[in-house]
Amino acid sequence: MRTCSVCDREYPRAEPWRCSCGAPLDYATQPLPDGRPGQFSRTSGVWDFDEFLPMDERVSLGEGWTPLVDASEWDASFKLEYLHPTGSFKDRGAATVIAEALEVGADRVLEDSSGNAGLAVASYAARAGLDAEIYVPASAKKTKVRRIERTGADVVPVEGSRAAVTEACIDAVESGAGWYASHAWNPAFFAGTATTAYEIAAQRDWNAPDAVVTPLGHGTLFLGLYRGFRALEQAGWTDTIPRILGTQAVGYSPIADEDGSGSDDAAANDLADGIHIRDPPRGRQIRHAIDETDGAAVAVSAAATARERDRLGAAGFHVEPTCATATAALTQFRERGELQDGDDVVVALTGRND
Ligand SMILES: [Zn+2]
Repeated sequence: MRTCSVCDREYPRAEPWRCSCGAPLDYATQPLPDGRPGQFSRTSGVWDFDEFLPMDERVSLGEGWTPLVDASEWDASFKLEYLHPTGSFKDRGAATVIAEALEVGADRVLEDSSGNAGLAVASYAARAGLDAEIYVPASAKKTKVRRIERTGADVVPVEGSRAAVTEACIDAVESGAGWYASHAWNPAFFAGTATTAYEIAAQRDWNAPDAVVTPLGHGTLFLGLYRGFRALEQAGWTDTIPRILGTQAVGYSPIADEDGSGSDDAAANDLADGIHIRDPPRGRQIRHAIDETDGAAVAVSAAATARERDRLGAAGFHVEPTCATATAALTQFRERGELQDGDDVVVALTGRND
């Protein structure tokens, strides 16, 4: 069962892809385990947490259980999500959304992406024996597009803005071209990204950190972390929910701007292309997660992103620019009081692909 996140209308199946009112759908209930956490094999990818996952089918390429390492130079811990099979945290959501596609009998999945989500969905579709069609900006980096093509997926380049790419994909979904495996719209994707929270808690002996920091575009990981930590607390596995802090790119920062924390820096941050989202469909839910966790969002400049990416590389963390916004923002969060000295902070290093 799915329910609308705005008007509460109910839908019995994993279709349509959004409510008739236009809002995103979610699962009506969050599955929760009985009892305390047992031992985890750490060999089943996200499916180690199947008690929290709302689908029965399974697909895996060995995602999940990324290292949580100390980063004393940043006074934080880093969750190394860039070590995933296709190079980003999107593998978690791709595993669950493709499992859902199998469950509903889809044979062709569609997705629109600036790169990482497209590669993840195409790779997991290939693993499951499903056809995939990935819509990308015509300006997308050639290396990313080639990786997607190598999975056997059909790549559809779209001229114009990132929003135009989504529109083209939605037009194809509406005309019956396939099932929308969207990392922005499909709730199955968020069930997968929520496993990041389960792992962070497991790796900390079931203690939630004070705060988690992640890049924020569509909110795929941001909302996954919120939902995951909320489910852990509901299950009684942890006692607290961390503050969820998001980093946006200057010029593409709708949430940070509303929060009064956008930057006056006139130049758009074109380096952090993974979060060039001006109107996220789950914006309302992102704001709710910020309110509920005493979270925040800030906008990061291109200069700070480039500087921080070099600093990460010098410390042995080889990540893409979008990802560097998360550590670049730590200073802003500390100056603004959203992070205090001594706070226990986990930063998600989200992607490695260039
Ligand atoms: Zn609705």
